[in-house]
Amino acid sequence: MCVSTAAPVTAAQGTGHAPAARAQGLTKAYGSGDTRVVALDAVDVSVTGGEFVAIMGPSGSGKSTLMHCMAGLDTASAGQIWIGGSEITALKDKHLTQLRRDKIGFVFQAFNLLPTLTALENITLPMDIAGARADQDWLDQVIDTVGLRERLSHRPGELSGGQQQRVACARALASCPEIIFADEPTGNLDSRAGAEVLAFLRRSVSEMGQTIVMVTHDPVAASYADRVVFLADGRVVDELTGPTAGSVLDRMGQFDGAGRRS
Ligand code: ADP
Repeated sequence: MCVSTAAPVTAAQGTGHAPAARAQGLTKAYGSGDTRVVALDAVDVSVTGGEFVAIMGPSGSGKSTLMHCMAGLDTASAGQIWIGGSEITALKDKHLTQLRRDKIGFVFQAFNLLPTLTALENITLPMDIAGARADQDWLDQVIDTVGLRERLSHRPGELSGGQQQRVACARALASCPEIIFADEPTGNLDSRAGAEVLAFLRRSVSEMGQTIVMVTHDPVAASYADRVVFLADGRVVDELTGPTAGSVLDRMGQFDGAGRRS
């Protein structure tokens, strides 16, 4: 298992796991004056180490903005964000870049693989750039879990969409990040390939102790998570533990466009 720095708190300490990521009073506004848009309005979210959280909500509700701010890809207008014990809203650019590289894994809808590198080279690229050596046992475990051993010497153009996204997932996991942020990871996949990727993400949490935050608009994708956080109009309006596709769909139907229960 990958040893995360968001180490479990012992039972004697009473609170289960320490947060792997947390936002408090997170506000993000774009533009100013008449064109000012409040994308996030004092959002409080906490993600426990070893938890798989899905962020859902209508288009424009702030899902991507929340993910980008929590992952340190965008800056907050107000509020605080922590990754593990580090408050990223207090970090200067250089340290933020370092923290993103060392502690955060990313999976994007568009795979973002380098076409000239093989699957294996893509998987180890972030560590190669950081000058870090991959732990071979861990790398083997990741490669076997994503079922890519036979494809390691293939370039992305020789792989299906589902295989490419599994390479991207393996790349995110390979360096044992404290947390993985996944932005619509199945958005470009058919339902079968999507199910494979989601099953892999689920296993990486259940069997490898990974922590994942996934933005999705798909109730089936959200049903793989431990908890769903619902956003509307830049606010957290509800959450659901132990979701099923049906219960997520039901809950979404209870909100009107303004984010209130109808
Ligand atoms: P979602 O991911 O739920 O579709 P977003 O986080 O992309 O929502 O957007 C939330 C709100 O912020 C929307 O009203 C969107 O138009 C606005 N927004 C997002 N990014 C920008 C930007 N770079 N400039 C101006 N407005 C933005």
